[in-house]
Amino acid sequence: MKNINKKKKFLVIVATHGDEAFSLPIIKGIKKKFPNDFDFIVGNPKALKENKRFIDVDLNRIAPGKEKSALYEEKRAREIMEESKNYSFVLDIHGTISDSDIFTIVTNPTPQNMFLVYSLPIKKIVIWGSTNNGRSTGPLSRFVDCGVGIECGPKDSTSVHKELENIFNTFVSKKNMIPGGNKELYQVFGSVKKDELGNINLKDFKEVKLNGQEFFPLLVNQYKDEGIVCYKLRKVDFYQKFSFPY
Ligand SMILES: [Zn+2]
Repeated sequence: MKNINKKKKFLVIVATHGDEAFSLPIIKGIKKKFPNDFDFIVGNPKALKENKRFIDVDLNRIAPGKEKSALYEEKRAREIMEESKNYSFVLDIHGTISDSDIFTIVTNPTPQNMFLVYSLPIKKIVIWGSTNNGRSTGPLSRFVDCGVGIECGPKDSTSVHKELENIFNTFVSKKNMIPGGNKELYQVFGSVKKDELGNINLKDFKEVKLNGQEFFPLLVNQYKDEGIVCYKLRKVDFYQKFSFPY
């Protein structure tokens, strides 16, 4: 698979959201130890300076971007798309207030992206192939040739920071990509709106039953200002998915 060639460098994007600065010092430290294996860029330097999620529009909803636009992030998304072409794959690091631990997000479920997440030392994988309400724009990782997101939560937790550091140390020092290990595969299939909830306590990846439906919550409270209590996950079994009944 030529898209997954670790002889070529890969690209890490930190602070795609300007209020997710936590990964910058971690990735800087890893880069010092392994200067030849990858490069990193700040996704949204303007928003990072202001400690805001974005300036004009969410950078991780506006890819693939436009060369000429009045919106800062729309131009920035296009720059990042161009930059990503020099690399074998892209890892886009995010942080959340949710108690989610660290998981990968596959926004474009292609075989090469599945190969990539199965090669990363991160157990939980979330496939999030949203149709984005019919919009043609979306997250950066959906539009690069090969790339996935890494979500870390809570983003201000020092143990989560340590874990992210360990993950990168393990991954970068291992010079070949071998998919496997013990993985848990999930798929986003909907969300819980504010008025649907009632008296249920939600925790990321802890299965609950709501209105007769079982699901695993994801990103609890992260998007509550937008009226979303959490996203709903179901487990995915590859064998089942590609097998016929008999
Ligand atoms: Zn983010």
